[in-house]
Amino acid sequence: MFPAYEANLDWAHAQDAADPLGAFRDEFLIPPHEGHDSVYFCGNSLGLQPRAVREAVNAELDYWGELGVEGHFKGRLPWMDYHEFVRDGLAEVVGAQPSEVVAMNTLGVNLHLMMVSFYRPTPERHAILIEAGAFPTDRYAVESQIRFHGFSPALSLIELQGDEPNGTISLAAIERVLAEHGSRIALVMLPGVQYRSGQALDLKAITELAHQHGCTVSFDLAHAVGNLPLQLHDSGADFAIWCSYKYLNSGPGAVGGAFVHERHAKAVLPRFAGWWGHDKNTRFQMGPEFVPTAGADGWQLSNPPILALAPLRVSLEIFRRAGMARLREKSLQLTGYLEWLVRTQLENVLDVVTPAESERRGAQLSIRVIGGRERGRALFEYLMEHGIIGDWREPDVIRISPAPLYNRFADCLAFAEAVQAWSHIG
Ligand SMILES: *Cc1c(COP(=O)(O)O)cnc(C)c1O
Repeated sequence: MFPAYEANLDWAHAQDAADPLGAFRDEFLIPPHEGHDSVYFCGNSLGLQPRAVREAVNAELDYWGELGVEGHFKGRLPWMDYHEFVRDGLAEVVGAQPSEVVAMNTLGVNLHLMMVSFYRPTPERHAILIEAGAFPTDRYAVESQIRFHGFSPALSLIELQGDEPNGTISLAAIERVLAEHGSRIALVMLPGVQYRSGQALDLKAITELAHQHGCTVSFDLAHAVGNLPLQLHDSGADFAIWCSYKYLNSGPGAVGGAFVHERHAKAVLPRFAGWWGHDKNTRFQMGPEFVPTAGADGWQLSNPPILALAPLRVSLEIFRRAGMARLREKSLQLTGYLEWLVRTQLENVLDVVTPAESERRGAQLSIRVIGGRERGRALFEYLMEHGIIGDWREPDVIRISPAPLYNRFADCLAFAEAVQAWSHIG
């Protein structure tokens, strides 16, 4: 049982000292602020650098220097198979079979590649369902695909409006939109965790509903991967895509990922092909005919960027040791503490947008400042000046994400105390 929360530093320090995952913080570089560690709540935007990354990247540079082209076959981790060294770790983090996942490209690129295969509109079934206020890349990507196929977003893009008081989406709203439009929806593309509200969606329930209407189902897991324990395979989703620089801590512009459900592993789906997606056994026969590797690997285009995969490999090793279940357990306590502080100490200053039910959110709390946007900006800037790093999302949301790998209970308390200090001067 977790003890009742208390709003004082002794209590927070005691929790941090007793935290079984507490030592992982030392494996990360915490950006400094005026000679101290900053309070870094931006792991949902750019996760922090694991200390071991530098050595891992340097090792590949050394192999390149010493081995040249032979590095593809020699060295501790030959480049030829390098993307396979992250496969099991990725599969574990997203709850998939190893053959269902691949690390490649970036999120936006993977979304387009997956839509080439999984968005095949017909005159009867041509629409894509996304949430209103979706992340720009998702909106631009689906809109451009609709146009590419000769359809018009005005008719073929359906944006699901949030129906709950804070703009979040109930399952009933998804049921309603499917009941009304399901027969013309080709593809459902929803977030695992919505980036602005922090709402976590029930992937399995959505997939089951949408499959009943004959829709293909996909998820953008940018804010879910490394944040929530996922069961992608069991969810039944057709495909998913994600980036690795947020909770997965794999560095700016890190290599993204994709999931393709096993049921599509052997299907001869149309796709944009490249030599790295070709059956590995015959790839170097360099024949003219493309024979895809079964599973998610078959969507690869290029030989992978080794220097960019090295940090992902390091990071997944940290996740393996920590375990998603333990991380989630701590995350529930840490974000629960932050929420408790906001609701009990700051109720006249802040409003939490993110759903209160812990199963409907991950690490992030999206917070509005009572009194409007200008006050919100002022608080955000005050926090940044005081080394409390969150981020601002237009029009009026401050996002605060305690990451269980490196954030502490004391960080949450520091946030609350800074907001209190600001509200007294403001
Ligand atoms: C962060 C994020 C992206 C970023 O896409 P990139 O291709 O990695 O630049 C896309 N979608 C969502 C929902 C995000 O949160």
